[in-house]
Amino acid sequence: MKKQIVLLPGDGIGPEITESALQIIKSAGIDLDYVVMQAGAESAAKTGETLPSEVVENIKKYKVALKGPITTPIGTGFRSVNVALRKELNLYGAVRPSKNLEGIRTKFDNVDLVIVRENTEDLYAGIERMVDDDTAESIKRITRSASMRIAEFAFDYAVKNNRKKVTVVTKANICKFSDGLFLECARQTAQKYPQIEFKEILIDNLCMQLVVRPHEFDVLLCPNLYGDIVSDLAAGLTGGLGIAPGANYGEDGAALFEPVHGSSPDIAGKGIANPTALIRSAVLMLNHLDYAKEAAKIDSAVNTVIKEGKFTTPDIGGNATTKEFTSAVINKLK
Ligand code: ATP
Ligand code: MG
Repeated sequence: MKKQIVLLPGDGIGPEITESALQIIKSAGIDLDYVVMQAGAESAAKTGETLPSEVVENIKKYKVALKGPITTPIGTGFRSVNVALRKELNLYGAVRPSKNLEGIRTKFDNVDLVIVRENTEDLYAGIERMVDDDTAESIKRITRSASMRIAEFAFDYAVKNNRKKVTVVTKANICKFSDGLFLECARQTAQKYPQIEFKEILIDNLCMQLVVRPHEFDVLLCPNLYGDIVSDLAAGLTGGLGIAPGANYGEDGAALFEPVHGSSPDIAGKGIANPTALIRSAVLMLNHLDYAKEAAKIDSAVNTVIKEGKFTTPDIGGNATTKEFTSAVINKLK
């Protein structure tokens, strides 16, 4: 029987890069049954809902989803669909690998980082209010249970993926209670994993160290907001948002795979978006679905096309269109 997954093409460049990823998955010989759903701006225009409840229900039912970017307008009443999905599906662990690809000029070679980001709380809990007309406040909520769960997830990930070191990232000197609790949970968990080296760093120092000595780092265990920011920094270090994939894991095998980048309205519809981030997210998904062989084939085809540099998109210095890049990858799969 064909495996069924939920597909959310998303907004902006989402549909263009989704088309590319689907063609490539098919060319690798994988026939999936896609339950296509809309969420975000397009869904809002049609149904008045940015996240129709059937989207959440279907992901709960089918367990696995591949998702394009969904727009979150800044400072409007529109709640982030990305955040809502992670929260409602309890996809508590985000994994964002950042690794150089040969052929993309970056400041450093051989950077190989994995960001493990807590996905359900911190400033993303959405506990915000206007105290009066001129005062706003947002609550940074950190719980012991969510912090233990993500720390366990990060160390377990390190063991299973042959990683050597976990560095916990906080601002525990300032946010003594909230980040302090996150740090305490990481320390406690680290004791159970003597085979993994454990380090602690403050977020400001990490930002500096990452752009000076990125090879010092391996797995970075972050609360939600720092994880968001450091993901973009790490993406920039290793070739940009156009190539940075992401996965969100929950309990009982639920998982949602999506690029780190947003919907890029500036280039939407121009046919020049880089589909690599979504394709690499699909590679993570195929591994999760036990198509390891095909996943490796796709990964290698993408890497070869980027290394050869003849058919790469403008964001990584080439002048090919999304379609030309896609065809080049498909040719490598043949
Ligand atoms: P959103 O509000 O949905 O996050 P955004 O305007 O922040 O959208 P991002 O997609 O997060 O846009 O990325 C910032 C910029 O990086 C984009 O405006 C775009 O120029 C570039 N970019 C991001 N992803 C890609 C991609 N896949 N291909 C090409 N350029 C990209
Ligand atoms: Mg963005």
